[in-house]
Amino acid sequence: METFDIAVIGLGPGGEHVANTLAERGLRVLGVERDLFGGECPYWGCIPSKMMVRAADALAEARRVPQLAGTVGEVVPQWTPVATRIRDEATDNWNDHVAVDRFVGKGGVFVRGTGRIVSRHEVEVDGVHYAVTRGIIVGTGAKAVIPPIPGLDTVDYWTNRQFVTQPALPASLVILGGGAIGCEFAQVAARFGVPVTLVEAAPRLLALEEPEAGDTLAGVLRAEGVTVHVGVGASRVDPDGSGVAVTLADGTIVRAERILVATGRRSDPSAVGLTAVGVDVTARVAPVDDRCRVTEGVWAVGDVTGKGAFTHVAMYQAGIVIRDILGEEGPPASYHALPRVTFNDPAIGAVGLTEAQAREQLSEVAVGLTPLGSTTMGWIHKVGNEGFIKLVADKQAGVLVGATVMGPAGGETLGALSVAVHARVPLSQLRSMIYAYPTLHRGIEDALTRLGG
Ligand SMILES: Cc1cc2nc3c(=O)[nH]c(=O)nc-3n(C[C@H](O)[C@H](O)[C@H](O)COP(=O)(O)OP(=O)(O)OC[C@H]3O[C@@H](n4cnc5c(N)ncnc54)[C@H](O)[C@@H]3O)c2cc1C
Repeated sequence: METFDIAVIGLGPGGEHVANTLAERGLRVLGVERDLFGGECPYWGCIPSKMMVRAADALAEARRVPQLAGTVGEVVPQWTPVATRIRDEATDNWNDHVAVDRFVGKGGVFVRGTGRIVSRHEVEVDGVHYAVTRGIIVGTGAKAVIPPIPGLDTVDYWTNRQFVTQPALPASLVILGGGAIGCEFAQVAARFGVPVTLVEAAPRLLALEEPEAGDTLAGVLRAEGVTVHVGVGASRVDPDGSGVAVTLADGTIVRAERILVATGRRSDPSAVGLTAVGVDVTARVAPVDDRCRVTEGVWAVGDVTGKGAFTHVAMYQAGIVIRDILGEEGPPASYHALPRVTFNDPAIGAVGLTEAQAREQLSEVAVGLTPLGSTTMGWIHKVGNEGFIKLVADKQAGVLVGATVMGPAGGETLGALSVAVHARVPLSQLRSMIYAYPTLHRGIEDALTRLGG
């Protein structure tokens, strides 16, 4: 059996960072990936979807010219530049040789195949066994959940993987799931002229975020021509000529050329053999401590840990694992200031707790909300200025525990609030700051005033 210091199974952003860094630091690292080295984010997730969003936003901005700056020639959307950019610039036509070469160049050994933990000191890849002396890292991510809707398996449905690899958009689209992925794709397709119906079973879009965000976004999407159904799920799906017919629980029938399933993502810890090191066979995530350890000698990073399905969480956890393995000092994992951004226009950036979560966990909560249109820059911005800044404070501690910024560049404005929540900056300090005029982030000052106290 060939022997390695480290084996990394699953080379998404988290596993890749661990594997590259430890190889660079001179450890003998085995990297195992069954699909593309780099995982979901660069090939089917963040990067291609954000290229689509960028293109769709450009169309929207062009269409806003008449309200702000005169006339513009006809805006004719074309998907080819987007598809070409994703194929050539983002994914190298879904080829990972650059990432593989980078790892091998650092001294790593790459094996393409499906890996499995045999024991704390042994992994197996498609029948070949490897001994591991210092540690096994699991970064196997998550996959799109396909809900058990009768008839869904009789149609040729898409997930994000098909959506980002198509050379052309469908003539019409129904999207199941009003989370971040569903909402981003709905706006992209609509801005490219596709009639879109978005179906969300929960009472509002972006159900995990502040209710104001989902409600505002539903209004924006409807104004752009998206048909939004909230509080009603799909009860069956049938083929309909060359397209699909989706029957909703309230009897509505939605017809479209294509159906896209965006109803969440799920990981499978037992499939990678975590049961061999004591993880319960029914576990939905790999249970990790604040050093991302599953058990002595086994770590997990990324979506599989269930701590937040974001590339920045995977990278953050990877940093913790690297330090732990190398015996370097560093703070334990803390998720109290977990930021997340939904890249719609307006974007929704959020950090820490929502108001509802804070009220469950804390005895005294204060909330301050400033509509973006009431701030100077929001008012100047005019068309496309829907949104708000919402702050959630722990009154007793005198600190922010959560914040949401919905608006143009909402994810960027969030930065200041992420620092405040992360570092538990006292409200008195935040109130004594100077906020540049007339920025969007100056709205934070007004929202602080509305917190009271
Ligand atoms: C459409 C879309 C848009 C997104 N946009 C954003 C965004 O804007 N910002 C953001 O932060 N996040 C975004 N995400 C989420 C982000 O892509 C994930 O959180 C991130 O990729 C998780 O990284 P990971 O390290 O867990 O590994 P993943 O990227 O999930 O990769 C895991 C890898 O493990 C491999 N694997 C699994 N099992 C095995 C096995 N047994 N043996 C070998 N290999 C195996 C898989 O093939 C895969 O390549 C988006 C996701 C999607 C789908």
